[in-house]
Amino acid sequence: MDNIEKIKDDALAELRNASETEEIRALSVRYLGRKGVITQFLRNISGLPAKERPAAGKRANEVKKELDAAFSAAAELLAARKTSGDQGIDVSLPGRTVPRGYLHPLTQVTREICEIFVRMGFDIAEGPEVEKDYYNFEALNIPKDHPARDMQDTFYVSDNIVLRTQTSPMQVRTMEKQPPPVRIISPGKVYRCDSDITHTPMFSQVEGLLVDRNVSFGDLKGTLTAFVHRMFDEDTKLRFRPSFFPFTEPSAEVDIQCIMCRGKGCRVCSHSGWLEILGSGMVHPAVFENVGYDTSRYSGFAFGMGVERIAMLKYSIDDIRKFFDNDLRFLRQF
Ligand SMILES: [Zn+2]
Repeated sequence: MDNIEKIKDDALAELRNASETEEIRALSVRYLGRKGVITQFLRNISGLPAKERPAAGKRANEVKKELDAAFSAAAELLAARKTSGDQGIDVSLPGRTVPRGYLHPLTQVTREICEIFVRMGFDIAEGPEVEKDYYNFEALNIPKDHPARDMQDTFYVSDNIVLRTQTSPMQVRTMEKQPPPVRIISPGKVYRCDSDITHTPMFSQVEGLLVDRNVSFGDLKGTLTAFVHRMFDEDTKLRFRPSFFPFTEPSAEVDIQCIMCRGKGCRVCSHSGWLEILGSGMVHPAVFENVGYDTSRYSGFAFGMGVERIAMLKYSIDDIRKFFDNDLRFLRQF
């Protein structure tokens, strides 16, 4: 009788150490199988004195049932734990931090540019990136046969629909909707067939338009000078160079004194001491006529700049494609 109790205790002790389903199955075979320990015990009962046999047989069968139940319960518990993935909680482990997101540098610079003009009283006007040829070209004094269309390599969706090459269409759309005075800036993505270290097929622009009575080139110079001084710093010198755009007359490119070398000449400014940052001019009377503005009463100026260009200068970035590579090592620096 002591033997059967010892067998039971040993079996349960081994079961407590079993951590895999396979181990439990092996224990079950070893104790309860056809050649198992308990079966052997039952066979050996015939060797006992006759009066001890019934009690020993009865107890052995009880132990057999008890062990069978214990093995099954242990196997079920193990299976349940595996499916729920419950391995217990280790409260000493460090927490898992959620990575923090940042605004893209181009978004930051676009917002900064807009903020400066909004403080000067400009409103923000946004519009479609897929644009009618009329708004992108014709209304801006660039008719179909105009050689200026060769200056911009355009993505045509159809004969009369383009991916806008500039955000200027919003100037026309705004003027069609309201009489002067107009004071808007138009930020957004634009598209041109162009790709190298300073050009990408998609880039961002901010354009501005101001129309009112007695607007002069002096107002244009004052507005852009105030912008450059806020965007870069108060000591940045500007230079207006005569240029040509079909929608402005007169037109001027605006250079700022090289912010790397302060005008002494370096690799970034091609040793000229100046960096081109935007185009501008007085709105061409033909543009006003297209939207029905009275050119004898109103005048205005317009300007446009590439956001990538401004961001590259502000942060000394030498390759425009870095903005679009989505390399977090680059983007996290802003
Ligand atoms: Zn320089």
